[in-house]
Amino acid sequence: MDFLRPTTWEEALAAKADRPEAVPIQGGTDVMVELNFDVRRPEALLDLNRVAELREWSIAGGFCRVGAGVPYAAVIEELGGPLPGLAQAARTVGSPQIRNRGSVGGNLGAASPAGDSHPPLLAAGAVVEVESYGRGVRMIPAAEFYLGVKRSALEPDELIRAVHVPPATGPQYFSKVGTRNAMVIAVCSFAIALHPRERRVGTGLGSAAPTPRRALEAEELLAAELDWDAPLDPALLRRFGELCARAAAPIDDVRGTAAYRVHAIGVLARRTLTWAWNDHLEKRAA
Ligand SMILES: Cc1cc2nc3c(=O)[nH]c(=O)nc-3n(C[C@H](O)[C@H](O)[C@H](O)COP(=O)(O)OP(=O)(O)OC[C@H]3O[C@@H](n4cnc5c(N)ncnc54)[C@H](O)[C@@H]3O)c2cc1C
Repeated sequence: MDFLRPTTWEEALAAKADRPEAVPIQGGTDVMVELNFDVRRPEALLDLNRVAELREWSIAGGFCRVGAGVPYAAVIEELGGPLPGLAQAARTVGSPQIRNRGSVGGNLGAASPAGDSHPPLLAAGAVVEVESYGRGVRMIPAAEFYLGVKRSALEPDELIRAVHVPPATGPQYFSKVGTRNAMVIAVCSFAIALHPRERRVGTGLGSAAPTPRRALEAEELLAAELDWDAPLDPALLRRFGELCARAAAPIDDVRGTAAYRVHAIGVLARRTLTWAWNDHLEKRAA
């Protein structure tokens, strides 16, 4: 197995163009598990750890640009203010060791329906920056990035460079059901982001369909009927939960049944909207 070690982004893109079959490795918390269990035996690994810019983040032009290699630990420590939903999700990932190595870019690269970054990225309206040597940059909205179980819109000669996330303008929450509190793959998960300036609520479902997805009908319901100056109407909250549950299309597997997941998504949706709404009203009253 060849081990390619570019030191700049341009070298990394050139290596991927030259060897499209090379498997990128950032934190390695997915890749090394696959190698250890012989799930795949690539001809080459493309180690991105020497490309320093991938571990940087910045805020400009209405977006927080998070480099693909920024580990969860940095998201938690440094980005809890602008990206509270993503930071909450990051806190639930694996263990301290996994959060030190694992990255948001790696979560996107793996494109697992159970990946914890995806629901908050969807709810916030994130855009994934990918690039190839020959064709340049493509900006892919998160909602169009996930194509199937562990399949994304990334082409074989492309690498993920960063994810652009609008800094929060309202409360955001992430909630995850697991069989225990740490080191657990989500049975299902849900993220919510209030966008008060646009009078809009974003959603993201995890581990509840072949891909992470938004609950579009539920979002449309709130856009049409939510009174942003009043307490949350219990009937509206109930219908929101029902529409979120209806957006799920889960399977039975070792972690849970489809029926349980549908039920749990409805509960998480109601719960997170209630938390977010309480924060929203508190902030208005202050
Ligand atoms: C014990 C354990 C617990 C875990 N717990 C959780 C959990 O709670 N929640 C969760 O979501 N995940 C969990 N994971 C999975 C994993 O940690 C995450 O998916 C993590 O985000 C992967 O990031 P990484 O940097 O380690 O990716 P890597 O393993 O380096 O790569 C993952 C995938 O992305 C690709 N890739 C990496 N970087 C790029 C790039 N720049 N461009 C294109 N492709 C790229 C790789 O080729 C690979 O296919 C766990 C894993 C372990 C081993």
